[in-house]
This record gives sequence, structure tokens and C-alpha cells, in this order.
Amino acid sequence: MPSVKRDYYEVLGVQRGATEQEIKSAYRKLALQYHPDRNPNNPDAEEKFKECSEAYAILADSEKRELYNRFGHAGVGSTAAGGGFDASVFHDFSDIFGEFFGFGDLFGGDRSGRRTRAQRGADLREDITIEFEEAAFGTEKKITYRKHELCEKCNGSGSAHGKAPAACRGCGGRGQVRYQQGFFSIARTCPTCHGAGSVINDPCASCRGEGRVIQQKTIDAKFPAGVEDGTRIRFTGVGEAGVHSGPPGDLYLVLRVKPHAFFERQGNDIYCVVPISFTQAAVGTEIQVPTLEGEQTLKIPEGTQSGTILKLRGKGVPVLNGHGKGNLFVEIRVHTPTKLTKRQRELLQELQGISQVENKPQRSSILDKMKDMFTQA
Ligand SMILES: [Zn+2]
Ligand SMILES: [Zn+2]
Repeated sequence: MPSVKRDYYEVLGVQRGATEQEIKSAYRKLALQYHPDRNPNNPDAEEKFKECSEAYAILADSEKRELYNRFGHAGVGSTAAGGGFDASVFHDFSDIFGEFFGFGDLFGGDRSGRRTRAQRGADLREDITIEFEEAAFGTEKKITYRKHELCEKCNGSGSAHGKAPAACRGCGGRGQVRYQQGFFSIARTCPTCHGAGSVINDPCASCRGEGRVIQQKTIDAKFPAGVEDGTRIRFTGVGEAGVHSGPPGDLYLVLRVKPHAFFERQGNDIYCVVPISFTQAAVGTEIQVPTLEGEQTLKIPEGTQSGTILKLRGKGVPVLNGHGKGNLFVEIRVHTPTKLTKRQRELLQELQGISQVENKPQRSSILDKMKDMFTQA
């Protein structure tokens, strides 16, 4: 079993820009070659058969193909190598093989109608960077992005003056031409219309016959308090326009949150490090510490050790779409002075004379800290 999933285009041996028909015929060839009926007790062939069937299931579906093109395997929920895929594509078999073997007519006759089937527009993705505080408190932004819109000049037909495209003469609108070979009637993509079934003789000037134009769009996006780096927010119906009156796709905004100068966030809790002098640590004091909502007084107890973490309850980030807030954890770092004045040195030496610390070696506390980390995880 391959440990890394192969690119679906590579699996089918087609170019990234391959047409629907090219993908279909590449799959047919491979599926016939590796079909389990033809390769009994051959796990290697079975694996190959599954692999190409999976690739076909994604690339033959314009919506899934678009997602795959944008996000790779992750976009179509198939990141696990070899796993997660079921054989649900096989119900398409009568379709694939029926047509290949010339049984198409037995399965319902004329297939030319499917070319104008309504298709949902593709989903779009935009990455948005916001400030640390904006993520914590929520924000509103105007998001500008580009998408395909129905060409208004030709009403999406691609033809100038609103004329409907003419049926292709090469294939009579079917998109395929058939010819007889031995027992089989073989269907090939029509070379005149490349499978579209229709030709535009007089293309619309504004969209060059494509029926869609790229336009800049702006939406007002509201981000609730508590969103974090990597949060994905879906805006329904503002993605790519559908094809042949299909519904539009969605827009996904993926949030990137800028790091803060001194706060670090983990879930709804935030962390920061505050230095104090060693005399403050020894006798205790009150200091001003930063929070998201301004400065606050924090009591440092007498005898605080470097590395002590003090908690300010409810001073973290609000729970997304919920109640309550996380906490702010302040790590105290005791600062040992490096440059002493003469007077300071005298006082410290006097202090040392009356201090009683036994300088015996101790077990490293690093091990204990690591143990704590693992039990927390
Ligand atoms: Zn044609
Ligand atoms: Zn147009």
C-alpha cells in the first residue's frame, strides 16, 4: 500500500487541464486493465483498480475536482493513504462500461441531455489575516475577492446577441461520435466540439464565448469573538456562479491570526512572561501586568520562585459561540542583576552573610516538568 497518496491526475495519466471525456476514457482503460474480474487473486491489481476508481470519482465530479485542484487530497477528505475510500463509485459502472461497450442505449437511450445538466458553482477560498485582539474580541471586515459571474451581455450563453449556441454538426449535439469496432460500438469525444455538444459560431465579445466573466466582489464578513488561527468560516451562496442555472458555490474564509508582541494563545487561554527583580520575588510585591482589557494589578507572594505561573481567572479569550472566557497565565521570571553599583554589592554581600542556603546538589526539576507535560497531554 502506498504510504503517500499519488496525485489523481498522475494516477489516471492525464494532464491537469484534461477534459471530462479525457478523464473518462483514461479511467476506462485503467479500470478494464485492473478490474478484479480479470485479475483474480491479484491484490496489486485490486489496489491499482481502487486507486484509479478513487481518482475518477473525484475528477469526474466538477465540484470535487475543483476542491481537489485547490486543496489537494485534503480538500476532498481523502488524506489517509489508501484508507477511507469505499467502493461507492462502482454504482457508476453501468455508466462507464455501458457506454464503453455500446450498451448505452439499453440503459436509457439518448445521453446528450446530460451536457446541459445544472451544475453547482465551485467553492472558493480566501485567506484573511486579522490581529490578535480582533480574533479575541471579534471584528467585522470588508472582504474583496474575485469570482466568475454569469456574463450579463449574453446571459451566460456565450453567444453574441443572446443567440443560443448551435448544436454541433459533427456529433448532432451528443458530444460523442460512435464507430463500430468488432462487437463493440466505441464512443469517442467529438473532435469538433470537444465534447460540449454545441458550438458557438458568434462568440459574445464580453466573455469571449465562455458565458462567465471574472468580477470583483465585496462582502461584509463578521468574525465572532474567540475565532482562532485556522478557523474556517463558510459564506453560503457567494462562491462561483453555477453552470446552466445550477446553484452558486460557497466562499470559505480561512483565518490567519497575527502573533502578538507578548501574548501567546492556546485555545481560550493566553500566556505571557513578566520579569520581576529578585528582591521583589523574595519579599513579595504588587505589579501591573498587561491583559487584553488593559493593565491589572497582580500580587506577587513573598518567596515567589522563577518560573511560577500565576493565573488571572477569566482574563483570556471568550469561548467561540459560547459562554465564559479562558484564563490569563502569567509566568514570573526572576531577574538576577548583572551590573551592581558599589552600594548594591555591599548590601547584597551583607545579605549573603546572614542567608542560610545549603548549596547541596538537587535532583534536576527538568524531569519533573517533562513528566507534568506528558500527564497533561
Ligand atoms: Zn460535436
Ligand atoms: Zn458573454
